Amino acid sequence: MKRNHPRFFYSTFHGNWEFEGNNIKTLGMKYITNNMLTDDRLQTVELKEIAWRGKHHFPYHVGRNCSCCDGQSYIHCDPSIPGIIAYNCPNPYDNKYRMLDGRHRIMRLLFEGKSESKFYVFDFNEIKRFMRDDKECPNKSNSTNGTYDGSGVQSITNYTSNRIIIKRNK
Ligand SMILES: [Zn+2]
Repeated sequence: MKRNHPRFFYSTFHGNWEFEGNNIKTLGMKYITNNMLTDDRLQTVELKEIAWRGKHHFPYHVGRNCSCCDGQSYIHCDPSIPGIIAYNCPNPYDNKYRMLDGRHRIMRLLFEGKSESKFYVFDFNEIKRFMRDDKECPNKSNSTNGTYDGSGVQSITNYTSNRIIIKRNK
């Protein structure tokens, strides 16, 4: 199964998702997914209380027009599988929860007109020890176009806008 690791960074398109002022961080999900998804964490949560990257664009640039996957992850996801969210996690919407895994599933739920769903809920303080520099992220090579050198915000902004332009020109 392809595993997406939530990323914490700023871009003009998505807003400020930085964590504690770090330019790019990634939360490693492997241990959490393999060991911490226990039934006692499952809660029914209102979708509007969850921040997810691209939320303010809905219904544009999401779903079948998703800018990260050209709609492929959206089409093939299973919205009946609970997503993973955390509270005590900063987000540009100042929502109670931040989506960690399940961004395409929540798009599906929203397009279906749902207002709530089940999620695995974490206190982010409990799992922030899994934060790491993005250069350790195995997905880096196909997500940065090789232009991010880790040196500062300017390069992050550039690579993000480049990536969006590339997607739009397809
Ligand atoms: Zn996508």
